[in-house]
Amino acid sequence: MQNKKELHDSKIRFTKPRDEILTVLKEAKTPISLQDIRCKIDESIDLSTIYRTLDLFEKHGIVHKIVYLETGTSVYEYDRHLHVHHLICIECRKIVNVEECPLGDYENRIALETGYQIVRHQLELYGICPECRKSAT
Ligand SMILES: [Zn+2]
Ligand SMILES: [Zn+2]
Repeated sequence: MQNKKELHDSKIRFTKPRDEILTVLKEAKTPISLQDIRCKIDESIDLSTIYRTLDLFEKHGIVHKIVYLETGTSVYEYDRHLHVHHLICIECRKIVNVEECPLGDYENRIALETGYQIVRHQLELYGICPECRKSAT
């Protein structure tokens, strides 16, 4: 979808920084940090503008902020309405998408047992990627 229309549909005013930030988020195949976003957009856009924009996008459900407790990093992911999990390298912090979800049956069982309607879950896998394993030996 065109950025202009997408922002308009969310009742967000279209501005050049918002346009650029949204484009970067859409192009990123895995969640991206604020610092990485900054490197990819016009350098005249300052950090606080990026921060406020991400905050605004998050409030409108355009992006999701994810905090990886293990590495202490915050990243942003454009909402593609796909259910994926992430595998994070604790050495280089590279992120890989894992499209397989093992939790369907588990969710159903917990819902039945507790009477809750389960709305979402989050699962992150942490490890050391093949490149980091190689350089450690
Ligand atoms: Zn690594
Ligand atoms: Zn899942």
